[in-house]
Amino acid sequence: MPLYHSPLYNDALAQLETAQEVMGADPNIVERLKYPKRAIQVSIPVRLDDGTVRCFEGYRVQHSMTLGPGKGGIRFHPHVDLSETTALAMLMTFKCALVGLPLGGAKGGVKVNPNDLSRQELQALTRRYAMEIGPFVGPDKDVPAPDIGTDRQAMAWFMDTYSQIHGYASHGVVTGKPISVGGSLGREAATGKGVAYCVNFAYDKMDKEITHKTTVAIHGFGKVGMPAAVDLAEQGAKIVSVSDYTCALYDEKGLNVLDIIEFVKEKHTLDQYEREGVKKITNEELLALDVDVLIPAAIDSVITKENMKTINAKLIAEGANGPLTKEAVKYLSDKGVFIIPDILCNAGGVIVSYFEWVQGLAHFFWDEEQINRTLHNILKTAFSEVVRKADHYKCDMKTAAMCAALAKLEAAMKLRGLFPG
Ligand code: NAD
Repeated sequence: MPLYHSPLYNDALAQLETAQEVMGADPNIVERLKYPKRAIQVSIPVRLDDGTVRCFEGYRVQHSMTLGPGKGGIRFHPHVDLSETTALAMLMTFKCALVGLPLGGAKGGVKVNPNDLSRQELQALTRRYAMEIGPFVGPDKDVPAPDIGTDRQAMAWFMDTYSQIHGYASHGVVTGKPISVGGSLGREAATGKGVAYCVNFAYDKMDKEITHKTTVAIHGFGKVGMPAAVDLAEQGAKIVSVSDYTCALYDEKGLNVLDIIEFVKEKHTLDQYEREGVKKITNEELLALDVDVLIPAAIDSVITKENMKTINAKLIAEGANGPLTKEAVKYLSDKGVFIIPDILCNAGGVIVSYFEWVQGLAHFFWDEEQINRTLHNILKTAFSEVVRKADHYKCDMKTAAMCAALAKLEAAMKLRGLFPG
């Protein structure tokens, strides 16, 4: 029986079970992967600016550490709970295995709207959370990173708190840090860049080329959506629509991506953006646009059985984690839509996080050209492997990605055995 009950967790379990059936994986291995290795719940008391104390609820879930230390982001969002955090930790296990990193899967989060807190309150929250989960994380144990609602500054506070406790500067404890405290070149754009690389690999596979006629819509114009838009626009694609939680912008002639990024840096949201030829549409309308490439890069479960029949895109690149529910994946794959699965499509972030961790441990830093080239090579190898699995098992890309990840985990788990025997 599943321990948790969020739609994301149920979908992750269903994907795992489908992969098991398709490839005939050992049920004893799959049984172990259905549950997290360890789930930590912490209370985070924070003194607010008005002098009162408020307790926030926080989590760190370590799903699997068979392949190496846990790896996964920290999310600050009002919807954070144990079930969602566990599902996201599980997806990290499969993502790291798929792209061949010596890392396990973990995720953390605090149930909070970071926009409701002052900078001082946010710092106190981040530091106390780091202190509470401190005994369970570390360069050889579990290495957090940013996710929704957290950023480079939060990682710098986390790294500093851990370093103060241990008495030395620990570069390997978190990734996504600012460059001046041991961050990596190329980390910020890595996830979006990886999405753009994957769109290119899919076009190669379909014997097509990205041209000025290739239309792209991006749902969620944040840390993933922006660099994906920049890279695809640089290749000549026409970004016809982008959105945030307030609205979507649409121009059939193509939006000026760099201008919108500058605008968001200053005004934070898209709703005030006014330019000739640019219309405001809803997020639902964006998702239904008749475009060549749709990139859902905001949150999970945006394409569901309720709206899957309205989708007109020919290729969907899952920039977010779990943006399509299992019903939507089945319906759209059967209809012939090419879906690049999340654990492959958005793996660029964890790949460059891995580079950052390695650089931190070695105290030696690489140039950006080397980072982007190695990122490209790792993603290309993983993409080819998923395509091979899809051909071999005659299954959709989502199942194929899961099969490729499960095969690697199964091999390692069998070799390491089950303690105590
Ligand atoms: P972000 O907070 O930087 O950006 C999210 C964007 O989505 C923002 O523009 C926000 O306004 C928009 N948004 C939020 N709710 C929305 C809604 N209901 N409708 C439309 N737009 C909405 O977050 P991010 O880091 O870009 O992460 C986005 C997704 O990608 C998440 O699922 C995250 O787990 C996943 N992801 C992120 C990374 C990374 O390196 N940042 C890596 C892998 C996966």
